[in-house]
Amino acid sequence: MKLSPQRAARNRHQCDVRLVMTERPSHETLVNFDNVDLAYDSAGNAVEDVSLRIDEQEFIALVGPSGCGKSTFMKLCSGLRPSSTGTVTVAGSKVSGPVKIVGMAFQNPTLLPWRNTLDNVLLPLEIVKPHRWKFRREKEKYVLKAKELLGSVGLAGFENHYPWQLSGGMQQRASLCRALVHDPKLLLLDEPFAALDAFTREELWCVLRDLWMLHHFTVVLVTHDLREAVFLADTVYVMSKRPGRIVARRDIDLPRPRELAVTYTDYFAQLVLELREHISVIRKN
Ligand code: ADP
Repeated sequence: MKLSPQRAARNRHQCDVRLVMTERPSHETLVNFDNVDLAYDSAGNAVEDVSLRIDEQEFIALVGPSGCGKSTFMKLCSGLRPSSTGTVTVAGSKVSGPVKIVGMAFQNPTLLPWRNTLDNVLLPLEIVKPHRWKFRREKEKYVLKAKELLGSVGLAGFENHYPWQLSGGMQQRASLCRALVHDPKLLLLDEPFAALDAFTREELWCVLRDLWMLHHFTVVLVTHDLREAVFLADTVYVMSKRPGRIVARRDIDLPRPRELAVTYTDYFAQLVLELREHISVIRKN
Protein backbone atom coordinates (compact mmCIF):
# COMPACT_ATOMS: atom_id res chain seq x y z
CA MET A 1 0.00 0.00 0.00
CA LYS A 2 1.56 3.31 -1.12
CA LEU A 3 0.84 6.15 1.32
CA SER A 4 1.03 9.88 0.58
CA PRO A 5 3.83 11.66 2.52
CA GLN A 6 1.19 13.48 4.61
CA ARG A 7 -0.59 10.26 5.52
CA ALA A 8 2.68 8.49 6.24
CA ALA A 9 3.63 11.35 8.59
CA ARG A 10 0.20 11.17 10.27
CA ASN A 11 0.49 7.41 10.69
CA ARG A 12 3.96 7.79 12.13
CA HIS A 13 2.59 10.28 14.60
CA GLN A 14 -0.34 7.96 15.42
CA CYS A 15 2.09 5.10 15.91
CA ASP A 16 4.09 7.18 18.38
CA VAL A 17 0.93 8.02 20.30
CA ARG A 18 -0.13 4.38 20.27
CA LEU A 19 3.22 3.26 21.59
CA VAL A 20 2.80 5.58 24.54
CA MET A 21 -0.81 4.58 25.14
CA THR A 22 -0.21 0.86 24.90
CA GLU A 23 2.96 0.63 26.91
CA ARG A 24 2.26 -2.35 29.13
CA PRO A 25 3.34 -2.45 32.75
CA SER A 26 6.26 -4.82 33.14
CA HIS A 27 5.24 -8.34 34.10
CA GLU A 28 6.97 -11.53 35.08
CA THR A 29 7.61 -14.11 32.41
CA LEU A 30 4.93 -16.81 32.48
CA VAL A 31 6.05 -19.03 29.58
CA ASN A 32 9.57 -19.40 28.27
CA PHE A 33 10.67 -21.49 25.29
CA ASP A 34 14.42 -21.89 25.09
CA ASN A 35 15.68 -23.43 21.82
CA VAL A 36 12.89 -25.97 21.71
CA ASP A 37 12.62 -28.78 19.14
CA LEU A 38 9.92 -31.43 19.06
CA ALA A 39 10.09 -34.52 16.83
CA TYR A 40 7.07 -36.83 17.11
CA ASP A 41 8.80 -39.60 15.18
CA SER A 42 11.52 -40.29 12.65
CA ALA A 43 9.92 -37.80 10.22
CA GLY A 44 12.03 -35.08 11.86
CA ASN A 45 11.22 -31.99 13.86
CA ALA A 46 7.65 -30.68 13.84
CA VAL A 47 8.85 -27.48 15.51
CA GLU A 48 12.46 -26.38 15.61
CA ASP A 49 14.62 -23.94 17.50
CA VAL A 50 11.69 -22.11 19.07
CA SER A 51 12.70 -19.46 21.56
CA LEU A 52 10.16 -17.00 22.87
CA ARG A 53 8.93 -15.46 26.07
CA ILE A 54 5.33 -14.76 27.05
CA ASP A 55 4.77 -12.38 29.93
CA GLU A 56 2.01 -12.68 32.50
CA GLN A 57 -1.18 -11.12 31.14
CA GLU A 58 0.24 -10.90 27.62
CA PHE A 59 -2.00 -11.91 24.73
CA ILE A 60 -0.04 -13.56 21.95
CA ALA A 61 -1.28 -14.95 18.64
CA LEU A 62 0.48 -17.60 16.59
CA VAL A 63 -0.11 -17.67 12.84
CA GLY A 64 1.34 -19.76 10.04
CA PRO A 65 0.45 -22.26 7.33
CA SER A 66 -1.36 -25.51 8.16
CA GLY A 67 0.94 -28.17 9.52
CA CYS A 68 3.61 -25.69 10.66
CA GLY A 69 3.39 -26.75 14.28
CA LYS A 70 0.95 -24.33 15.93
CA SER A 71 -0.94 -27.06 17.78
CA THR A 72 2.37 -28.68 18.63
CA PHE A 73 3.39 -25.40 20.28
CA MET A 74 0.20 -25.58 22.38
CA LYS A 75 0.98 -29.17 23.41
CA LEU A 76 4.41 -28.03 24.55
CA CYS A 77 2.90 -25.15 26.56
CA SER A 78 0.37 -27.40 28.27
CA GLY A 79 2.83 -30.21 28.91
CA LEU A 80 0.88 -32.70 26.79
CA ARG A 81 4.13 -33.34 24.85
CA PRO A 82 7.69 -33.00 26.16
CA SER A 83 10.24 -31.19 24.06
CA SER A 84 12.87 -33.33 22.32
CA THR A 85 15.54 -30.71 22.98
CA GLY A 86 15.49 -27.36 24.70
CA THR A 87 13.41 -26.30 27.68
CA VAL A 88 9.85 -25.11 28.19
CA THR A 89 9.26 -23.28 31.47
CA VAL A 90 5.81 -22.28 32.72
CA ALA A 91 5.34 -20.19 35.87
CA GLY A 92 8.96 -20.74 36.82
CA SER A 93 8.91 -24.56 36.60
CA LYS A 94 10.39 -26.69 33.86
CA VAL A 95 7.50 -28.46 32.12
CA SER A 96 7.70 -32.22 32.58
CA GLY A 97 4.00 -33.20 32.55
CA PRO A 98 0.52 -31.66 32.27
CA VAL A 99 0.54 -28.04 33.42
CA LYS A 100 -2.18 -27.34 35.99
CA ILE A 101 -2.62 -23.60 35.47
CA VAL A 102 -3.89 -24.04 31.92
CA GLY A 103 -7.38 -23.66 30.44
CA MET A 104 -8.07 -24.71 26.84
CA ALA A 105 -10.68 -24.18 24.14
CA PHE A 106 -10.72 -25.50 20.59
CA GLN A 107 -12.50 -24.99 17.28
CA ASN A 108 -15.08 -27.59 18.28
CA PRO A 109 -16.71 -26.54 21.58
CA THR A 110 -16.97 -30.26 22.60
CA LEU A 111 -19.77 -29.71 25.11
CA LEU A 112 -21.21 -32.93 26.50
CA PRO A 113 -24.71 -33.31 25.01
CA TRP A 114 -26.23 -34.87 28.13
CA ARG A 115 -25.16 -32.03 30.41
CA ASN A 116 -26.78 -28.61 30.49
CA THR A 117 -24.73 -25.44 29.96
CA LEU A 118 -24.01 -24.86 33.64
CA ASP A 119 -22.93 -28.47 34.22
CA ASN A 120 -20.72 -28.34 31.14
CA VAL A 121 -18.99 -25.25 32.49
CA LEU A 122 -18.50 -26.93 35.88
CA LEU A 123 -17.03 -30.08 34.35
CA PRO A 124 -13.29 -29.24 34.80
CA LEU A 125 -13.90 -28.67 38.50
CA GLU A 126 -15.39 -32.14 38.82
CA ILE A 127 -12.63 -33.98 37.00
CA VAL A 128 -9.38 -32.02 37.38
CA LYS A 129 -7.61 -33.32 40.46
CA PRO A 130 -6.46 -30.18 42.25
CA HIS A 131 -9.95 -28.65 42.02
CA ARG A 132 -12.09 -31.72 42.74
CA TRP A 133 -12.06 -31.70 46.51
CA LYS A 134 -12.43 -27.92 46.66
CA PHE A 135 -15.42 -28.11 44.34
CA ARG A 136 -17.13 -30.74 46.51
CA ARG A 137 -16.56 -28.62 49.61
CA GLU A 138 -17.54 -25.25 48.11
CA LYS A 139 -19.96 -26.23 45.38
CA GLU A 140 -22.28 -23.24 45.89
CA LYS A 141 -19.41 -20.80 45.46
CA TYR A 142 -18.33 -22.40 42.18
CA VAL A 143 -21.88 -22.62 40.84
CA LEU A 144 -22.22 -18.90 41.50
CA LYS A 145 -18.92 -18.27 39.76
CA ALA A 146 -19.93 -20.33 36.71
CA LYS A 147 -23.22 -18.43 36.54
CA GLU A 148 -21.36 -15.12 36.73
CA LEU A 149 -19.05 -16.20 33.93
CA LEU A 150 -22.02 -17.27 31.79
CA GLY A 151 -23.67 -13.92 32.52
CA SER A 152 -20.54 -12.04 31.48
CA VAL A 153 -20.56 -13.71 28.05
CA GLY A 154 -24.27 -13.07 27.48
CA LEU A 155 -25.56 -16.51 28.47
CA ALA A 156 -27.56 -15.56 31.58
CA GLY A 157 -30.82 -17.53 31.42
CA PHE A 158 -29.28 -20.34 29.36
CA GLU A 159 -27.76 -22.27 32.29
CA ASN A 160 -30.30 -25.07 31.96
CA HIS A 161 -30.22 -25.29 28.18
CA TYR A 162 -28.54 -28.28 26.54
CA PRO A 163 -25.87 -27.84 23.84
CA TRP A 164 -28.30 -28.72 21.05
CA GLN A 165 -30.50 -25.82 22.17
CA LEU A 166 -27.62 -23.33 21.70
CA SER A 167 -26.28 -21.74 18.51
CA GLY A 168 -22.65 -22.35 17.49
CA GLY A 169 -21.63 -18.97 18.88
CA MET A 170 -23.40 -19.66 22.20
CA GLN A 171 -21.70 -23.04 22.47
CA GLN A 172 -18.33 -21.41 21.94
CA ARG A 173 -19.14 -18.81 24.63
CA ALA A 174 -19.94 -21.67 27.01
CA SER A 175 -16.71 -23.40 26.00
CA LEU A 176 -14.74 -20.24 26.93
CA CYS A 177 -16.47 -20.19 30.33
CA ARG A 178 -15.58 -23.85 30.86
CA ALA A 179 -11.94 -23.07 30.02
CA LEU A 180 -11.93 -20.27 32.59
CA VAL A 181 -13.98 -21.65 35.48
CA HIS A 182 -10.91 -22.83 37.42
CA ASP A 183 -9.16 -19.44 37.05
CA PRO A 184 -6.30 -20.61 34.81
CA LYS A 185 -3.34 -18.27 34.53
CA LEU A 186 -2.74 -19.42 30.96
CA LEU A 187 -5.52 -19.77 28.38
CA LEU A 188 -4.67 -21.78 25.24
CA LEU A 189 -7.05 -21.24 22.33
CA ASP A 190 -6.65 -23.35 19.20
CA GLU A 191 -8.66 -21.71 16.40
CA PRO A 192 -11.65 -21.23 18.72
CA PHE A 193 -13.69 -19.14 16.29
CA ALA A 194 -12.77 -20.78 12.99
CA ALA A 195 -16.10 -22.56 12.55
CA LEU A 196 -18.26 -19.47 13.16
CA ASP A 197 -19.73 -17.09 10.60
CA ALA A 198 -17.97 -13.73 10.21
CA PHE A 199 -20.41 -11.69 12.34
CA THR A 200 -20.54 -14.19 15.18
CA ARG A 201 -16.77 -14.47 15.06
CA GLU A 202 -16.38 -10.72 15.57
CA GLU A 203 -18.86 -10.83 18.45
CA LEU A 204 -16.76 -13.55 20.05
CA TRP A 205 -13.57 -11.51 19.60
CA CYS A 206 -15.21 -8.88 21.79
CA VAL A 207 -16.34 -11.49 24.31
CA LEU A 208 -12.77 -12.79 24.59
CA ARG A 209 -11.34 -9.25 24.76
CA ASP A 210 -13.68 -8.40 27.65
CA LEU A 211 -12.95 -11.63 29.54
CA TRP A 212 -9.23 -11.03 29.15
CA MET A 213 -9.44 -7.44 30.33
CA LEU A 214 -11.53 -8.51 33.33
CA HIS A 215 -9.63 -11.60 34.46
CA HIS A 216 -6.02 -10.75 33.47
CA PHE A 217 -5.03 -14.24 32.29
CA THR A 218 -2.32 -14.84 29.69
CA VAL A 219 -3.45 -16.00 26.25
CA VAL A 220 -1.92 -18.03 23.44
CA LEU A 221 -4.26 -17.89 20.45
CA VAL A 222 -3.65 -20.05 17.38
CA THR A 223 -5.47 -18.68 14.38
CA HIS A 224 -5.48 -18.53 10.60
CA ASP A 225 -7.30 -15.23 10.70
CA LEU A 226 -4.81 -12.35 10.59
CA ARG A 227 -7.50 -9.77 11.42
CA GLU A 228 -8.39 -11.77 14.50
CA ALA A 229 -4.72 -11.92 15.52
CA VAL A 230 -4.23 -8.16 15.09
CA PHE A 231 -7.49 -7.21 16.79
CA LEU A 232 -6.85 -9.33 19.87
CA ALA A 233 -3.14 -9.75 20.44
CA ASP A 234 -0.33 -7.73 21.99
CA THR A 235 2.19 -9.71 19.98
CA VAL A 236 1.82 -11.84 16.84
CA TYR A 237 4.34 -14.58 16.00
CA VAL A 238 4.59 -16.01 12.49
CA MET A 239 5.74 -19.60 12.03
CA SER A 240 7.45 -21.06 8.96
CA LYS A 241 6.41 -24.27 7.20
CA ARG A 242 7.43 -27.53 8.88
CA PRO A 243 9.72 -27.66 10.73
CA GLY A 244 7.94 -24.73 12.36
CA ARG A 245 10.28 -21.94 13.39
CA ILE A 246 9.37 -18.48 14.57
CA VAL A 247 10.24 -16.30 11.58
CA ALA A 248 8.64 -13.00 12.58
CA ARG A 249 7.39 -11.23 15.67
CA ARG A 250 5.13 -8.18 15.46
CA ASP A 251 4.10 -6.01 18.40
CA ILE A 252 0.55 -4.78 17.91
CA ASP A 253 0.67 -1.25 19.19
CA LEU A 254 -3.03 -0.45 18.84
CA PRO A 255 -4.48 1.25 21.92
CA ARG A 256 -6.78 -0.68 24.25
CA PRO A 257 -9.60 -1.19 24.79
CA ARG A 258 -10.01 -1.94 21.08
CA GLU A 259 -13.36 -1.61 19.40
CA LEU A 260 -14.29 -3.29 16.12
CA ALA A 261 -14.12 0.12 14.42
CA VAL A 262 -10.30 -0.11 14.66
CA THR A 263 -10.40 -2.95 12.10
CA TYR A 264 -11.46 -0.39 9.45
CA THR A 265 -8.50 1.94 9.99
CA ASP A 266 -5.53 2.27 7.64
CA TYR A 267 -3.10 1.35 10.37
CA PHE A 268 -4.95 -1.89 11.14
CA ALA A 269 -4.92 -2.75 7.42
CA GLN A 270 -1.17 -2.09 7.31
CA LEU A 271 -0.54 -4.47 10.19
CA VAL A 272 -2.64 -7.20 8.57
CA LEU A 273 -0.89 -6.63 5.24
CA GLU A 274 2.53 -6.88 6.85
CA LEU A 275 1.63 -10.25 8.38
CA ARG A 276 0.02 -11.37 5.12
CA GLU A 277 3.30 -10.65 3.32
CA HIS A 278 5.22 -12.84 5.76
CA ILE A 279 2.76 -15.68 5.13
CA SER A 280 2.99 -15.21 1.34
CA VAL A 281 6.79 -15.50 1.45
CA ILE A 282 6.54 -18.63 3.62
CA ARG A 283 4.01 -20.23 1.26
CA LYS A 284 6.24 -19.55 -1.78
CA ASN A 285 9.36 -21.10 -0.22
P1 ADP B 1 -0.69 -26.98 12.82
O1 ADP B 1 -1.41 -26.89 14.12
O2 ADP B 1 0.15 -25.77 12.53
O3 ADP B 1 -1.60 -27.30 11.66
P2 ADP B 1 0.49 -29.38 13.98
O4 ADP B 1 1.19 -28.89 15.19
O5 ADP B 1 -0.83 -30.05 14.16
O6 ADP B 1 0.37 -28.20 12.91
O7 ADP B 1 1.45 -30.40 13.22
C1 ADP B 1 2.81 -30.08 12.89
C2 ADP B 1 3.40 -31.28 12.16
O8 ADP B 1 3.49 -32.38 13.08
C3 ADP B 1 2.55 -31.77 10.98
O9 ADP B 1 3.43 -32.19 9.96
C4 ADP B 1 1.78 -32.95 11.57
O10 ADP B 1 1.49 -33.89 10.58
C5 ADP B 1 2.78 -33.50 12.57
N1 ADP B 1 2.09 -34.12 13.74
C6 ADP B 1 1.18 -33.55 14.53
N2 ADP B 1 0.79 -34.40 15.50
C7 ADP B 1 1.49 -35.56 15.30
C8 ADP B 1 1.55 -36.82 15.97
N3 ADP B 1 0.81 -37.06 17.04
N4 ADP B 1 2.38 -37.76 15.46
C9 ADP B 1 3.17 -37.52 14.38
N5 ADP B 1 3.16 -36.34 13.70
C10 ADP B 1 2.34 -35.38 14.14
